[in-house]
Amino acid sequence: MEKDIQSVLEMALEQGRDVLYEGKVANYIPELAKADSSNLGVCLMKKDGSIYKAGDYNIPFTMQSISKTFSLILALQTAGYDKVFSKIGMEPTGDRFDSILQLELKDWRPFNPMINAGAIVTASCIETPDPFQSFLDLVRRVCKNPGIRLNESVYLSEKKTGTRNRSIAYLLKSDHVLDGEPEDILDVYFRMCSVMITARDLARYGMLLSNHGIDPETNEQVIDTSIVRIVTTLMMLCGMYDESGEYAVKVGLPSKSGVGGGIVAISRKGVGIGTFGPMLNKKGNSVGGEKILQVLSRELHLHVFDTASF
Ligand code: GLU
Repeated sequence: MEKDIQSVLEMALEQGRDVLYEGKVANYIPELAKADSSNLGVCLMKKDGSIYKAGDYNIPFTMQSISKTFSLILALQTAGYDKVFSKIGMEPTGDRFDSILQLELKDWRPFNPMINAGAIVTASCIETPDPFQSFLDLVRRVCKNPGIRLNESVYLSEKKTGTRNRSIAYLLKSDHVLDGEPEDILDVYFRMCSVMITARDLARYGMLLSNHGIDPETNEQVIDTSIVRIVTTLMMLCGMYDESGEYAVKVGLPSKSGVGGGIVAISRKGVGIGTFGPMLNKKGNSVGGEKILQVLSRELHLHVFDTASF
């Protein structure tokens, strides 16, 4: 079995490499355009501690939108369900991640925490003296990696060029959805997006979520089960931008992607998977990462509605 998983991983990596050049590296944040387009890696972690890896699984990249899942955990831990979901909805949008449209058309609340508008409000809900430090502490603890840190150049690049996120924040402020100073909240948001992780860190995060928030080595409840359920449900519904439906059919795992090229995926069969490949499709998802996850889901029977055992 051990050997089978490793060979499936290697096969998935090869198939991922075949589609890599159908994508493009994100360049709307200038610093992200410097990514190495040939990078591709995957790591799979099981709750019994076994780890399988292939390709560039240990190269750090900025987590970007994957940070939205961690900040949601932190907001729920510190402000609670009622406060968070009085300001943000739980519905998929089918729109781009940075869309402003629905805020004017339908509801003053952002549709969900996985789009930029929702994530900016989520950041404003974190009730700790230093929200970014609390975020960093949570990421380090969950990934069991105290070396995780901010990429200062990406942060400054986002801060300098983030006019669209600024528009969203000021619109939310004018509609009284955002409490606090927009620039301060955006600063926390940009920093969170610019924290560096690896596919291996993501596999560990996914494994913890798949294990109901419990660290299998210590039996410590790192994240409450009720929070894990909320976050993974929202990942399933809206974690892959406006491609979440197609991805659910083809891969069928609660997942979250980021424009830095990362994807974290969770299988209820006690497995976490992290992938990294900065070449993105038009929706903003890693082309190589998606292909790898499609192959793993099919070959290892991980799809949420696959009844065969793992
Ligand atoms: N920092 C990015 C932004 O706000 C995150 C986008 C993403 O990964 O989807 O535009």
